[in-house]
Amino acid sequence: MKKVVKFGGSSLASAEQFKKVGDIIRQDKDRRYVVPSAPGKRDANDTKVTDMLYACYALAESGKKFDRQLEKIQERYQEIIDGLGMAVSLEEEFRQIKENFKKKAGADYAASRGEYLNGILMAEYLGYEFIDAAAVIFFDEEGNFMADKTNEVLSARLKDTERGVIPGFYGAKEDGTVVTFSRGGSDITGSIVAKALHADLYENWTDVSGFLVADPRIIKDAKVIETITYKELRELSYMGASVLHEDAIFPVRKEGIPINIRNTNAPEDAGTMIVEDTCTKSKYVLTGIAGKKGFVSVHIEKDMMNSEIGFGRKVLGVFEDNGISFEHVPSGIDTMTVFVHHSEFEEKEQQVIAGIRRAVNPDSIELDTDTALVAVVGRGMRKNWGTAGRIFSALAHARVNVKMIDQGSSELNIIIGVSESDFEKAVKAIYDIFVTTQLV
Ligand code: ASP
Repeated sequence: MKKVVKFGGSSLASAEQFKKVGDIIRQDKDRRYVVPSAPGKRDANDTKVTDMLYACYALAESGKKFDRQLEKIQERYQEIIDGLGMAVSLEEEFRQIKENFKKKAGADYAASRGEYLNGILMAEYLGYEFIDAAAVIFFDEEGNFMADKTNEVLSARLKDTERGVIPGFYGAKEDGTVVTFSRGGSDITGSIVAKALHADLYENWTDVSGFLVADPRIIKDAKVIETITYKELRELSYMGASVLHEDAIFPVRKEGIPINIRNTNAPEDAGTMIVEDTCTKSKYVLTGIAGKKGFVSVHIEKDMMNSEIGFGRKVLGVFEDNGISFEHVPSGIDTMTVFVHHSEFEEKEQQVIAGIRRAVNPDSIELDTDTALVAVVGRGMRKNWGTAGRIFSALAHARVNVKMIDQGSSELNIIIGVSESDFEKAVKAIYDIFVTTQLV
């Protein structure tokens, strides 16, 4: 068996964390390929090495002195080296980095050094081969990830590598210029490596024991989701649940490789399995609840709207022309409501209203800025009766007014619009009815 194991920044923030990671890897001989992040925060007030690197490079770029800042970064690594009792020296690497900062090698190069150096340490610590991501992960001239070329080169490179460390977060253009993925991108590297190896499993080790049924800031001790499908995960991530980088799903999903989210600080926990499909029933009817505040609804009314062919297209065309994507469009006989993100809409508000007036000449347009959306997601809702009934009676008991309901025909989710002030109350009510009071 081949397993790719990715460790996040908090899992590698100190020598103590490195030891836990070493134990985890040595415990299972199939954990042969390791993708590390840069050292993260050691405690709540700490700074991630990636952020230190960005800040240090900003000084270098504007021609200011950056020696002290770079020294502080070096100290973070030295602390790990000393704590592990290793003999390795990063002197030469830091000399090189300093030189490249002076030559203004770019913010991506700067940030990538966090993972690069951690990769060197990890390889040394485990006795695994170090493979620089810049030699195996490729970006085109515009900085777009080149999936096919990467897969080809990476598969060939790893074919004869029994055990290797590939730093996360970055790759390079053909000319060697380093490019990073967006923040949190080591998750993507792990997925790309798993795909190239046809790995049996991609383990993503972090500081939580998996995806939680609901946001722990709202539900204390929220339960862990044992198994979730890619589709469900997409719905929940889109609505704000974040453990894994969104783009990390695509490479492994195409290969049918499951992802297992695990906790470095509680390795005995099984975590969450993310799979293409499963016969495993989720423990509760719902798999998860997520949601976001900050939506605006644009409510349009016009007599006889229903018989006006092309009405919807013309309205949505106005949003398109203004570069605004819409979230949901529930409609009535003579009404149509378009839900959009407040942040996207704010600036273009007057252009959109004028555009709709010109396009369809409505009787009225009303804006409502006080909307939060709650997504109740679960494969268990399909062909099951009573789910919607339970959700809405729970909301009624909690005295939450429902402004909008949207259930896709996939029956995978129900989206509910509520006032922002009711958001937390709504999530709690739904969680309680499906999880807390569920007898299992
Ligand atoms: N170190 C990078 C970040 O902080 C990438 C990662 O950790 O995945 O965003």
